Amino acid sequence: MTLKLYNTKTRSKDEFVPIDPENVRMYVCGPTVYDYAHIGNARPAIVFDVLFRLLRHLYGADHVTYARNITDIDDKIMARAARNGKTIAEVTEETTRIYLEDVAALGTLVPTLTPRATETVAPMVEMIGTLIGKGHAYEAEGHVLFAVKSMPNYGKFSRRSTDDMIAGARVEVAPYKRDPMDFVLWKPSEEKEPGWDSPWGRGRPGWHLECSAMIEQHLGQTIDIHGGGVDLVFPHHENEVAQSAGAHDGAPLANFWLHNGFLQVEGEKMSKSLGNFITIHELLQKWPGEVLRLQMLMTHYRQPIDWTERASREAWGTLNNWYDLTDGVEAGEAPQGVIDALKDDLNTPAAIAELHKLKGDPAALKAGAQLLGLLCLTGAEWAAQEVALADIDVDAVEALIAKRVEAREAKDFAEADRIRDELAAMGVEIMDGPEGTTWKVAT
Ligand code: AMP
Ligand code: ZN
Repeated sequence: MTLKLYNTKTRSKDEFVPIDPENVRMYVCGPTVYDYAHIGNARPAIVFDVLFRLLRHLYGADHVTYARNITDIDDKIMARAARNGKTIAEVTEETTRIYLEDVAALGTLVPTLTPRATETVAPMVEMIGTLIGKGHAYEAEGHVLFAVKSMPNYGKFSRRSTDDMIAGARVEVAPYKRDPMDFVLWKPSEEKEPGWDSPWGRGRPGWHLECSAMIEQHLGQTIDIHGGGVDLVFPHHENEVAQSAGAHDGAPLANFWLHNGFLQVEGEKMSKSLGNFITIHELLQKWPGEVLRLQMLMTHYRQPIDWTERASREAWGTLNNWYDLTDGVEAGEAPQGVIDALKDDLNTPAAIAELHKLKGDPAALKAGAQLLGLLCLTGAEWAAQEVALADIDVDAVEALIAKRVEAREAKDFAEADRIRDELAAMGVEIMDGPEGTTWKVAT
């Protein structure tokens, strides 16, 4: 069975054939680093990590290059730094560090490359120069704009009409634009704003251009797979397509374009104003990372996903069961049923259904789960994580246990029982043994 992936470019499930099986190349648009990443941002991180793992399984770990960038030049970052009285570098460094910790806790492998926009400005300036030279961009009042009309196919990728595009891009009408849809490749920076010297004066690149230049710089002109959330199809990816084809005489930027569906919370769009905006960071205070990961993979990546606590609890129950079954077991061969499900456009719900069938074969269960980035801890690590996460005041538990010992020594068994109940109400189960009293998180 071959690998098939749904390709936004063709709007069909196509057989995946790499340009060079010795070096399969994938790029995913990463976060803009100005705030904690929310659980919606975790979706592309997890989904494309599963694809990375599958590609490594199929082509060999040394034959896949996965780049996920950090967008650390953006006006939202400048605004946040000004609001919090911090430098831009402070905001981006701290947010990047937290993002990388959060997605690591979700069981994602470190991508082969993590290019930062700030480290790729010279290639960006060069690409803009190339686009001007080829008649696809023009300078106007310190800005450089992409001339959309110079690309007859503009809009084909996202299948939008001109009217849709104008509405969708919330086009800014500026006097220096030749066409209202022309978008910014370079814009001037004021003295206090971050900026780099360029042939068009001191300024900074536009977001769309950043990705095109990072891809060219790190992966080449045409890559195998480009990924991101479905919200990026237009304008971000339409613009990446136009810029890269314009700079490379029509060579396509990517052969396959994959887009994950959107995540909403308890049936509502996630937003700060609705108060249902949840960060990965806060979820990790409550749930093990593998629980969040399994929950994310219970829905096919192209479907919308409704993030609920009920589903988190279900995923936790499943993992508790699988950890019990596989405790001390060594992973075997990855089961074919799981691999085949993933080769069918990353059908993770089908892969999970296959895992449920493997209860009698723990070695296969473990190997199949690990292909999805699950069951990667030892049984002891999994149990320790439960204690750490349960909202239990360890000092209070120890004090109550000491009080109960005293009560028992004084033969006040009613008080000892009362303390046992009090601990149970806190979610703590105690065990009396020859070594004294020990405790664990009640299950
Ligand atoms: P951003 O930092 O907003 O550019 O987003 C980083 C990545 O997360 C992009 O690939 C987005 O498409 C994706 N993303 C943002 N919000 C959601 C959401 N609610 N559901 C799924 N993916 C999202
Ligand atoms: Zn991008």
